[in-house]
Amino acid sequence: MTTPQQSLTSIPNQPYIGRFAPSPSGELHFGSLITALGSYLQAKKNNGQWLLRIEDIDPPREVAGASQGIIESLERHQLLWDNKIVYQSQRSHMYEGRLAELLQQNLTYNCHCTRAELAMLDCKICCPCADQGKSPEGAAIRFKNTQAITTFYDAVQQQVVADNNAVEAQFCLKRKDGLYAYQLAVVSDDIDQGITEVVRGADLLQATFYQLALYRAFAVPAPRFVHLPLVINAEGKKLSKQNHAQVLDPNRANHNLVDAMKFLGLSPPASLCKAKVETMLNWAIESWDLAHVPKVIACHDNRIAEL
Ligand SMILES: [Zn+2]
Repeated sequence: MTTPQQSLTSIPNQPYIGRFAPSPSGELHFGSLITALGSYLQAKKNNGQWLLRIEDIDPPREVAGASQGIIESLERHQLLWDNKIVYQSQRSHMYEGRLAELLQQNLTYNCHCTRAELAMLDCKICCPCADQGKSPEGAAIRFKNTQAITTFYDAVQQQVVADNNAVEAQFCLKRKDGLYAYQLAVVSDDIDQGITEVVRGADLLQATFYQLALYRAFAVPAPRFVHLPLVINAEGKKLSKQNHAQVLDPNRANHNLVDAMKFLGLSPPASLCKAKVETMLNWAIESWDLAHVPKVIACHDNRIAEL
């Protein structure tokens, strides 16, 4: 017998559909290559499709030209996606529809709190707006996450349990500035695209608790989750666009891929470095095994080493 939470995270016997979903807040760096390669290999090993979705839902954070830069860098690394690229900026109507579903179920409320006011709240309770029927004018729309999911199974991280107090009783669905919030957009898209397994960086482990709550609200089985270890820099910080991770040099696609393969637990032979990228990727698909992906956060400071 399965528990409700186990059944939430299993889509049995469906053709595999995976995805890579970068946000265009910067170009591809080593950390995002890990996610791209890991999700690509997992999809191809399972004879599945690998979709590309550009998460350009937050224009203030978007860097001009970054979407095109990501696309070109993926092409240079021959990480070629199936089907048409999906852009979140063109899917507002779908997010609106999903939001309306939640509204109908009385799972949302209008909130006028500032960030500072929310930060002062006990995270286990919704802000006072939840019971006050506030006007929608200038409000953020929040999800009443009062029966939060606090554990899920991950194929690499295994049983993930939220730290005490880590999963908040509310989260944002639509911001005060009218933009749809990340959790709603991601879940709406993953459902719409029929994603059967989400492979992404472990920085999104926490987001999974919120996304599972949305799957439950939509009464849709959640995909399986695979959270790859993060790459941190020499200062111990996550390699990200925000801390100016070096943009990948596509002229070094072979080296970049070999480094990424090692990070993901593969042991490419030295001769592979000089092979064509296509040959390298075929070798990697053949050799790919989730059981070899390290669970722990690893360190990258121009060399590969586990902490
Ligand atoms: Zn509020």
